[in-house]
Amino acid sequence: MMKLILCLFLLVNLAAAQGVTYVVLWFDTEDYVDPIADDAALRIATDLTNLGVQATFKVVGEKARVLERRGRQDVIQALGKHCIGYHSDWHSIQPAPAVNLQHFGFLEGAAEFERKQRRGFEDVARIFGVPPVCYGQPGSSWAPQSNLALRRMGIHVYLDEGKQVGYNDQPIWFGGLLYVFSMGPYQIRADLDKQVPESETFRQFDTAVKHFRESGGGLISTYYHPTEMVHTEFWDAVNFAHGAMRKREEWSLPNRRSPEEAERCFNVLKGYVAHAKTMPDVKFVTANDLLRIYANPMPPAVDKLQLARHFKQSITFLSVAAGDLSAADILLQLLNLPAEYVDGPTSRGVTTYTDKTISDFVFDAAVEDVKSFIETNHYLPSEVFVGSKTLSLADFAATLSEHLLSPGPVRLQQGNLAFEQYVSNDARASFNWLIHPEGFAPNELLALARLQGWTLKPARLR
Ligand SMILES: [Zn+2]
Repeated sequence: MMKLILCLFLLVNLAAAQGVTYVVLWFDTEDYVDPIADDAALRIATDLTNLGVQATFKVVGEKARVLERRGRQDVIQALGKHCIGYHSDWHSIQPAPAVNLQHFGFLEGAAEFERKQRRGFEDVARIFGVPPVCYGQPGSSWAPQSNLALRRMGIHVYLDEGKQVGYNDQPIWFGGLLYVFSMGPYQIRADLDKQVPESETFRQFDTAVKHFRESGGGLISTYYHPTEMVHTEFWDAVNFAHGAMRKREEWSLPNRRSPEEAERCFNVLKGYVAHAKTMPDVKFVTANDLLRIYANPMPPAVDKLQLARHFKQSITFLSVAAGDLSAADILLQLLNLPAEYVDGPTSRGVTTYTDKTISDFVFDAAVEDVKSFIETNHYLPSEVFVGSKTLSLADFAATLSEHLLSPGPVRLQQGNLAFEQYVSNDARASFNWLIHPEGFAPNELLALARLQGWTLKPARLR
């Protein structure tokens, strides 16, 4: 009997020990000012290839163009052995994406982002011979309108770090993209200047691996910039701080590290990678691999009454054994619409309807109209007409849920948009970046992001 218990105990432990830690290692390859940064990118790409590790290089459009102009086929080829992403066309030349999109709505902002960013995307694709598979914003210059534009450009992974939106320090689906963002303690990097001792970083890494081993797996996000290895300051900080504009001939070179110092930095990165490689249940993945290791975001079909009960309490994503549903996925199921990705509403609707109940035939017409709106536009309506008055989308969703749970007279309910908690309230802090104008605090972008919270749900490892 004791043997059986011991066997069972071991089996349970083995099952629990299956969680794999994936590490996505990415490099923002952006310094088009100092050519020494080209060599740094080459060195990193070559070192990692020699270590048998594939990374992701997010390349700025102008960086790709200067590599081509400087005849650096060696750099282009070395980076091409890794995964290629996109890191905006000009990075720090104003208007930065968030500055540019601050006063745009969702749809026109997406068109504007595409207008400004498609050229760089196509240059990176042409110069590297492959379309970039992911995007991440320069600095903290994030904007929710980029999600729709990126999908139109064929990009499905948002790979960066930021404070604007996030859940549980792990990847999420947001705006129809797989988001690696706001990774908290799972955003790990060995400090190049050793202000944080290497041993402490390794301890943080090992703690994460242990946690994921016991909890079914997870992702660590690690990033550097090739320019950091060879400079003590950023190329853009010395030229474009606080929205500064300077002629190209007047650009200054950032302060370089000595060759010995640079060598030490390359070795910090190699040491970190070597440490990760000592663990059998750690696997390096690229942005491309992420789409393979995370499950398809198509939601499972769930009992409507369960969905209605969930929505009546709080309008947010729902995780069940078979998968995850965003609030938008849930609304589509409640409306008997086929599953598809739809964007959130483009503005914040309000409820002007004041009676406690709604006539059946008026509500039925409203439901049909919402279905037609979604099928036509592929985004959610901001408000729903009940006759000449309106319900905010949240109140409509809660009212519909209540009506499904207790058929009879349609009673007006107030919706609780719980998913809004996953979007930052602090525009100043979330958009803090030396390149942005001083005091930059685009609350409008966070308000748009909250509307897109309808699309947010956790990403689940396969
Ligand atoms: Zn950058």
